[in-house]
Order: sequence, then C-alpha cells, then structure tokens
Amino acid sequence: MEEVNCPICEASGGEPLHLEGSFRMVRCPSCQFIFLNPRPTMDSLLRFYQEYLPEEGPSIESWEKMMRPVFHRAANLLKQYGREGRLLDVGTGFGFFLVEMKKRGWEAAGVDISQKAMDYARDVLGLTILPGPLEKADFPDNHFHAVTAFYVVEHLSHPMAFFRECHRILKPGGLLLLRYPHTTPIKNLLQFFGIKNRLYDLPAHLSDFSPKMIQQCLEKIGFEKYQHLIGGYTLPGDLGKRTSSILFGGFAEALFCLSGKKFLFPGVSKTVLAFKGNLK
Ligand SMILES: [Zn+2]
Repeated sequence: MEEVNCPICEASGGEPLHLEGSFRMVRCPSCQFIFLNPRPTMDSLLRFYQEYLPEEGPSIESWEKMMRPVFHRAANLLKQYGREGRLLDVGTGFGFFLVEMKKRGWEAAGVDISQKAMDYARDVLGLTILPGPLEKADFPDNHFHAVTAFYVVEHLSHPMAFFRECHRILKPGGLLLLRYPHTTPIKNLLQFFGIKNRLYDLPAHLSDFSPKMIQQCLEKIGFEKYQHLIGGYTLPGDLGKRTSSILFGGFAEALFCLSGKKFLFPGVSKTVLAFKGNLK
C-alpha cells in the first residue's frame, strides 16, 4: 500500500469519507475527488487483476449476460452518432463488446491487462487484443473513430493520463464513451441508516467519479462536447443484485427521460460520451 496525493489535482491530504474493512475512501480538500488512500501499489494491482475476472465457462457466460444490455445500448449510441470505422475498447475483458461491434461492421480491437481475459478473447473469440495498460500500447495519434471503456476509470491509478491518451489516439471528431459506477450517494444514504456494505468494491476500485467530476476532467483534457446519460443497466446473475439493478436502473432511466434527458439519478452507473473537437 502507498499514500498518494489526489490523482486529479495532486493536492495532498484528504478528509476520510468512508471505511470498508481496513480500506479508506477520502475526499480531496481541493477538488473534492473521492479516492482510495492509501492504495495498493501498481505492481500489486497488476498481480491482483490476473485473478479479477471469473475463469470458469459458466461464470464467463453469466458475465456476458450481465454486461449485454449495457453493451447493446452503447453500440446503439455509437450508431446514433453516426460513428463507424476503427474502434478501441480499453479494459475489454473477455472481449464481448468487440464481438458485438465487429458484427456491426467495425474494425474493433481491445486492450486489457489480464492475461486470462486476453487469452480467452484471442483464442476463443478470435479477437485482436493488445496487452495493457493503454499507454503501453503506443497507438498512433488521431487513429480511432471511437474509444470505449466500460467500468475502467474507477480502477485507474492515473485517470488524467488515461483521458489524455484517449484524446490523443482519437481522430478529430472521434468519440469517447465511458461507463462508470457512481457509488458515493448510496454509501452516504446507507451510512445514514447505519447499514454496513462493501459497495465501493475496495481495493479494486481506486476512486468514485461523479458526473460533474468526470466532465471537469474531460474538459481539462480538451474534449469539447458531452452527453451524459443513464445508458441502461447490468443484469447480474445473483437474483437480489439483478432485481435491484433493474429496479434502480429502470427508475433512473424513467426519471432521466421524464426530465428531458437532464436528471441523472445519484448512485446508479452512468454513461458519458465526449467528443474530440467538432463533429465531422
Ligand atoms: Zn484533488
């Protein structure tokens, strides 16, 4: 474990916010970013991710089923914005999103740090996967029409470097699609009622982005236009988790539509689209 400064603004110190076991989420006194501190070192994280995804066939299938509705919505969004061509999915896992996008005519490749996930995506699904992290893959400037990352940003030690790299490798007019959890509002609520939980999934998650924070970061990097939305919900295999995902996700979608696509229900996962420069 190592003590770190704020991964967004580099300010030191942090007000303790929530505990999960021996792990502590803190809030940056300067930019309000919520992050794990102290956190595992980069080396221990890389080892941890070799075991993070399920290994057995049935677990891989249920993982695919869980993510399917979110992948489907994302694929439709890319179509809605008239995007086609070359796509990179970062933290692609077993590669099921790439399969969907290839079916839709995209030239799609992925990056991942898990050797097991890479082996599966390459050997079983026949996909093109490069070993991560993204910065190591060394793609040319202005290369992709779209970059996607599902449930990745909350795992990153250096999110700003990641956003910068996404911006660099996107073509002008290219689109970045990020899917991320937003857990702090639920943690606050459960804490108020004294209900213990491990919703932050520490130490796997190193931070918790709010929509406002993610937009500020993307603006700082140079992305010019955004759209935030709920973007569907996952369908976990566990009945209780699936029910609450449908209930809260469905409710959040309904409120989002009723508010004229403005209200982002706190606490549920969100999707953000960010554009590099003008649409072309
Ligand atoms: Zn900060």
